Parts: sequence; C-alpha cells; structure tokens
Amino acid sequence: MQQQQKLIFEKSVSGRRCTQLPACDIENKTALPQDLLREEAPLLPEIAEVDLVRHYMALSRKAHGVDNGFYPLGSCTMKYNPRLNEEVAAMPGFTDIHPLQPTASVQGALKVMQLLQQYLAEITGMDAVTLQPAAGAQGEWTGLLLIKAYHEAHGEQNRTKILIPDSAHGTNPASAAMCGFQVVHVPCTEDGFVDVAALRSLAGPDTAGLMLTNPNTLGLFEKDSLEMADIIHKAGGLLYYDGANLNAIMGIARPGDLGFDVCHLNLHKTFSTPHGGGGPGSGPVGCKKALSPYLPNPIVEDENGQLTLNFDNPNSIGQVKAFYGNFLVYLKAFTYILSSGADGLKQASQGAVLNANYMLYQLKEIFHLNNTFPCMHEFVLSMEDLKEETGVSAMDVAKALLDYGIHPPTMYFPLIVPEALMVEPTETENKETLDFAIETFRKIKEEAFADSAKLHQYPLQTPVRRLDEVQAARKPILKYQKSENQ
Ligand SMILES: *Cc1c(COP(=O)(O)O)cnc(C)c1O
Repeated sequence: MQQQQKLIFEKSVSGRRCTQLPACDIENKTALPQDLLREEAPLLPEIAEVDLVRHYMALSRKAHGVDNGFYPLGSCTMKYNPRLNEEVAAMPGFTDIHPLQPTASVQGALKVMQLLQQYLAEITGMDAVTLQPAAGAQGEWTGLLLIKAYHEAHGEQNRTKILIPDSAHGTNPASAAMCGFQVVHVPCTEDGFVDVAALRSLAGPDTAGLMLTNPNTLGLFEKDSLEMADIIHKAGGLLYYDGANLNAIMGIARPGDLGFDVCHLNLHKTFSTPHGGGGPGSGPVGCKKALSPYLPNPIVEDENGQLTLNFDNPNSIGQVKAFYGNFLVYLKAFTYILSSGADGLKQASQGAVLNANYMLYQLKEIFHLNNTFPCMHEFVLSMEDLKEETGVSAMDVAKALLDYGIHPPTMYFPLIVPEALMVEPTETENKETLDFAIETFRKIKEEAFADSAKLHQYPLQTPVRRLDEVQAARKPILKYQKSENQ
C-alpha cells in the first residue's frame, strides 16, 4: 500500500520560505485602520520551493486522469485531448485580452467565436448557435428557455410539460424543472428504446417539447427518432436534442436533419477539452431559425466587416453567463475541429463506435449484456447475474478495476439497468489498451467466483480505500483543521 501523504501543513517548518524578499523600506506599512488588522498571523504552510513542487507532483500522480490511464467513463467521453489545443489556448494574443476591451481591439477573438458558431451549426445541422452556456446542464436550461420563449411568443403558455425518457441523463429532468416545466416520464421498451406508443399517448396540447438523447444512454441509436419528431411536432411541441455526447454521430448524422429544433453540445466531452476536475467547460446551444430570436445576449454580429457584440436583442432570453462564456474552451474546440477537419471528425465517431463494439463483442461473452448488439459509442453491462451468483456487485467490480489502473466505468446509470456498468472506451484508445481492459474484466470475474470476499476488499493499491461516500458528499472536510499543539 502507498504511504499516506502528509498534508502541506504537516510539512510546514516555521521560518522556511519559497522566496526571499528584500526587507520592506516603507515606513507606514499599512494605511488600514488598526481595528481591521489581524490579531494573529494567518496559518499558512511554510515550505521551501523544492518541497512545494514535490508535494504537488506527488498529489498529481495520485489522481487518475486520461493522461495516465484508461478512463472508460460512459456518457462522459474521457478521451485524449491533443496538446495542440492547449498551445493555441495559451497564446498571449488570446490570454492577454480582457472581456471589457473595445470590440475593435479584439476582432480576432470575435472571429474565432463567429467561426466556431458556424462550424458547430454545420456539425449539428442548426441555423444559429450561442456559445455562452458554461456546461451541458446550463445548455439544456438555455435551450429549454428558448422553447419556453417560443411558446409564449406564440400565445401558448399552456404548454407546460416536457417529455423525458426514463433512460435520460439526470440533468434533463433537473433542467426542465429549473425552467418551471412539469416533467413527464416516457417509459422504455424491454430492449432499451423509447416506447413510441407511450410517447404518442403522452403528447398533446400541453406538451412543450421532448428531450431526447440519441444515441441514448444505453448506447443505442433511437431508430424511431424521425417518427418521434413527427409525433411531437404534430402535437405542437418542439424537440430538444441532448448532444452532450456527440461522439457516435459527429460528421455522420445531424440533429437538425433528424427533426430536432434545439440541441446542446459539450465542448468538454466531444470536442476535447480536459474535464472532470470541475471545469471550465462549455455547452453551446444550437437552434433552428424559428428559435434564434430568443438566443442569449450578446450575439456576435457582422457590421460591414467589423465584428460587434449585440447586447440589445429585444426578444432574447437575456444573458446566461458572465461576459461571453468560457472563451479559452472555445479555442480548444476550434483547434480540434480545424486540425481534425470534416474527415477527421467523422473518423473520430467511427473509431469511437468501432472501439465500443470491439469491447462489447468480447465482454458480452463474459457478463450479462443489457443492450442489443451492436452498440454506438458506449454500452451498458449489468452485474446483476454476477451479484446473484457470487454476491459481487457493480461497485465491487468498479473498485477492483482501480487496482488494475483502470478508471471505473460509470456506475449504476442508467437507472433502468440493475447493477449497471456503462463503458465508453472512446476512439483514442488503441487495441492493446482495449485488450488489456477486456482481460482485466475477465480476471475480475474469475476472482469473484474464486474468492468473492477479496472483491469486497478492493481497492488495495490506491492512496485511499473505500470511502464513506455519503459522508464525503454531505460533510466534506475542505479546510485544514489546526490541531491543539500547533
Ligand atoms: C454530461 C452530460 C450532460 C451534462 O453535462 P455537464 O457539462 O456535466 O453539465 C447531459 N447529458 C448527457 C447525456 C451527458 O452525458
């Protein structure tokens, strides 16, 4: 087992410093009123530069990321992010500008935004795009506000319900509720597709729209997508496409062509911005012409060859994010799209689907499969049989994978699959990595039958073992607590 890492406060030695500053030669050091000054010096770690560097290097090595191992997190597209993106996003011409600079002095940055909007409109088959939302969930909320604004502008305030399939990502019903819509669940059929007959019976004059993820969270392409679009449109509703994970269809099929009116993308998933550490992300929203008057302010506009920002669109739902959103993330997506080209984006999707099917084809011989085969860019295994036969759960399997250097797949999602493990290998993994992962799954299953007690013990090699997750979420310790004798 690894040695427990000391906290930086525990490494602190009084008087030790990273830097040496010349003595202060200002007489009246502070003009602050005496009663506002601290009585005690703040508790800060005192450490030399080399120890500081070692401390953070050691911490970074303890974290698992796409740069140090396989990370098949279903629905989240943890793929390799080309370093070129970072280089472009770090160019001083982009990093040294300020959001309040006159637009005449940031024409290049505005051009990047305008072009990225055009590329994303082309990729999704939409007429207009806003880059503002900071994440997928905020994109959903923005897109649903567009739907709401549209219905209100057409005197249809009675359209208060959003239909959402049972297999949807949890953010879908949450976003709909945040917009003041009532969420209506649409059941799935046995084989994991939206129940079209049920959808037909639920659609009506109170339907504001349908939110659909396609391929759905089981990794299946909803083959009745066009029929569903027809049902919703005939009922007077609009269609929202959750494109957080466009990795299976990018360059191949377009939500706009499939009858969708609004969609969001996650630049921090499909378009290769690192994510998982809490951001920054970006969830642009594309829409059809009929919804474009309601897009958030400001909009990049071309005025006789000069790019400007229009903050005064009268019908806009307003601003959804400070300034213009997360600009440096746009640069990474922009670089990824330009360096991949149309062919490259299509190849990425094809590779993602091929890799998922390669893994699924072999894993379906080992575990209970909760999908039909073939799949799109991801698939869902169920550990229900394994649990019945050995007592080993999806959680145990996930924890065992950690010891083999593999980040666990998404667990217990989608909710409609018992003991679910949702695997998304992504296109950037080679055959050797996929073979290693398949072999590891096989080994873990054998071990479950041979010594199930050991499976409940995993992980044995990680810096921390099994944590009390509820306690960690509800009562996190985020601040160093000074002990009595310090
Ligand atoms: C990740 C994801 C979201 C939410 O995106 P965030 O950026 O995490 O808010 C929504 N829908 C699906 C299908 C996703 O995979």
